[in-house]
Amino acid sequence: MTTPARSLNFIEHIIEDDLKGGLAPKKLKFRFPPEPNGYLHMGHASSICLNFGLGQRYGAPVNLRFDDTNPAKEEQEYVDAIKRDVAWLGYNWDQECYASDYFSQLYDWAVELIRSGKAYVDSQDAETMAVQKGTPTQAGTNSPFRERSIEENLCLFDEMKRGLHPEGSHVLRAKIAMDHTNMLMRDPIIYRILHRHHHRTANDWCVYPMYDWAHGQSDYLEQISHSLCTMEFTMHRELYDWFLDQIIQPDLVRPKQREFARRNFSHTVVSKRKLLQLVEEKYVSGWDDPRMPTISGLRRRGYTPESIRQFADTIGIAKRDNLVDLSLLEFSVREHLNKIAPRVMGVLDPLKLVIENYPEGEVEWLEAENNPEDESAGFRQIPFSRELLIEKEDFKEEGNKKFFRLALGGEVRLKNGYIIQAVRCDKDENGAITCVYCTYDPKSKSGSGTEESLRKVKGTLHWVSAAHALPVEVRLYDRLFTDPTPDSHKDVPFLSLVNPNSLEVIQAFVEPGLAEAQPEDRFQFQRMGYFVVDKDSKPGKLVFNKTVGLRDTWARLEATENGG
Ligand code: ATP
Ligand code: MG
Repeated sequence: MTTPARSLNFIEHIIEDDLKGGLAPKKLKFRFPPEPNGYLHMGHASSICLNFGLGQRYGAPVNLRFDDTNPAKEEQEYVDAIKRDVAWLGYNWDQECYASDYFSQLYDWAVELIRSGKAYVDSQDAETMAVQKGTPTQAGTNSPFRERSIEENLCLFDEMKRGLHPEGSHVLRAKIAMDHTNMLMRDPIIYRILHRHHHRTANDWCVYPMYDWAHGQSDYLEQISHSLCTMEFTMHRELYDWFLDQIIQPDLVRPKQREFARRNFSHTVVSKRKLLQLVEEKYVSGWDDPRMPTISGLRRRGYTPESIRQFADTIGIAKRDNLVDLSLLEFSVREHLNKIAPRVMGVLDPLKLVIENYPEGEVEWLEAENNPEDESAGFRQIPFSRELLIEKEDFKEEGNKKFFRLALGGEVRLKNGYIIQAVRCDKDENGAITCVYCTYDPKSKSGSGTEESLRKVKGTLHWVSAAHALPVEVRLYDRLFTDPTPDSHKDVPFLSLVNPNSLEVIQAFVEPGLAEAQPEDRFQFQRMGYFVVDKDSKPGKLVFNKTVGLRDTWARLEATENGG
């Protein structure tokens, strides 16, 4: 099987250059390194598809590494969710690793640094150290503890480890240079005291390594060849390399950090901290609320792993930050669901329709094609009877040239059924239409081959038989934020921009054949969009989430607003 040719992205160019420069192909190895402090989101999907995509392209292993160095924010629940989401996206990791597995090794290496005079214990408070850091244009000043003796440093660091000192009383710092042009190199902290319970190491540790000390060394321990991260780490690369220099052994792979642009998406936020706020302050029902940009939210919304991978592939990776339009993701899922989702009929806003010349009490089972895009999907039977439900918006007393639906005196075809003509309607005291009366042409049945069945009428409506229809709950979603960039406004908190109308719950009626549908089963409700069975469904009480409409209504709305 050949994969369609695609030009190399800049990361692949770097890898190709390394291979040309002598790196053995079997030494290629990647990792995806989430911090288990929240659920994965669409931005992570980009990074997952990048790393695992490289693994597939080069036949190289990819580790799943939990960057669990901050016990204050990390939890087992998040570890479990992350594993579930990566697997659901369709990727198999080589090893499941944890930075916390390396705590002993990292500690030993830190002791080595002290022994070689390259690290010291600083006993000042955070504010004082911050002031001593200097500014980008001004050198920092040395800490009065910078020249502590090796013995004293070893003794203090050991005491820190044994829990003899309170949080904030001491830190271990690398001794690099306080006048370095890169501020991150001005004696960075490598260990801090935290008297916290860790989700894996429990109370074994009272000192925890900082990200910079843990990350590169973990890459090295796992022999990762290319450590890809987002661009806010560009300035950290120098430190990453300095730390590696302290431990590197000949004949082992030296990991290389390279950076790519963080993805932002329109009409949502992708920062775990902000997503956690949406959850904790109950703007949404949880991390997997179908409005959330999390992988588990997208799954519950009816997205397929294929569509998310396709989307990540389409947007690719970049060197500059940019905003990706959410409608691109919607396009991907629409395209995939069009191929795989069985068609069914469901009426979201019912209006009763009576066929006056259809025999009372009679039920006919009509044959309907499950998916015109997939012959193997076969056919099903749907009941037809004298009283049906149609969509309210599909009937008007008076139509016009642009109204291809049902109007008094006009004709339409009922999908998979007959041609009907509207005769009259009932209204309530407010003038709202409550029932439409029609006649049907018994010879016009779809697929019967008669002349009448082949007759073209301009509109086709979906419907369900009133007596057979299955009442279901349907949850309709709009964007969680109507603002395209909710977290980019200086004076407006993003939470104040949550769309108050992002969820509408209605009762709808679907074909009876759906009674056995299971959570995560996806369907196209013909003419209405794609829907998925929600996990809140109970026997006899199905709940559907609307995944996406059949067309991009937002693009249309925006075009209208712009006068297009
Ligand atoms: P957040 O701010 O959402 O917590 P993070 O970068 O702190 O993001 P991590 O769990 O540390 O989250 O990220 C794991 C990997 O995913 C990192 O390599 C990170 O660079 C990448 N990543 C996170 N967010 C994005 C994004 N929006 N676009 C691309 N890659 C991302
Ligand atoms: Mg992070």
